Amino acid sequence: MGNKLRDEILELLWSLREKGSNNYADVIKGISDNDVSDVIRKMEKSGHVAIADNKINFTEKGEARARDLTRRHRLAERLFHDVLEVGMEESEETACEIEHFLSPSVTDSVCSFLGHPPTCPHGNPIPRGSCCSKFSSDFKPLVMQLKELEVGLKGRIVFIKPSESTRLERLATMGIVPGSIIRLKQKRPSFVLEIDETTLAVDTLIAEEIYIKEHR
Ligand SMILES: [Zn+2]
Ligand SMILES: [Zn+2]
Repeated sequence: MGNKLRDEILELLWSLREKGSNNYADVIKGISDNDVSDVIRKMEKSGHVAIADNKINFTEKGEARARDLTRRHRLAERLFHDVLEVGMEESEETACEIEHFLSPSVTDSVCSFLGHPPTCPHGNPIPRGSCCSKFSSDFKPLVMQLKELEVGLKGRIVFIKPSESTRLERLATMGIVPGSIIRLKQKRPSFVLEIDETTLAVDTLIAEEIYIKEHR
């Protein structure tokens, strides 16, 4: 179906743009389908993209659609990978299918349920939705920042989104890695955690970078 390939092209354009490319040739290279150039011509007619000097750019309409698709795809990856603990490759494949079925309101529910994750499991940014800013939680998020866990409760680390890339290693040496079970002992003046009978303290900034699922 032409629309499926169109959506695939829009998503590719979005990720190429994140890497700083808008070359027509990179799009052709990125998708192995003989119909790509035909579909791109149709997308120009339907007002999704504009092509000039071997560069391909979004129109406003195309950009909105690409943003939406990318958001759904990356949220679906998070859902399968983190919550259902499906392998990375399979999560990716399932996300490609499911992104076409998620309505905007379901997408926002999934986003809220996951605690408005900033990135997909590959580390690519998830475009924000309206739910992310208003943060009214009708849903108690399944995945939340460590700082939101109640003192005394346990959580399993789902993922860590460090603001400094060197931090992951440092946290790992303390046993703070995805899959670890932690118990929160106090929040003030710093966060005190217990992992495998070891007690350690981290500051608030780090507690915001650790995403956990409540563990009973
Ligand atoms: Zn991803
Ligand atoms: Zn959100």
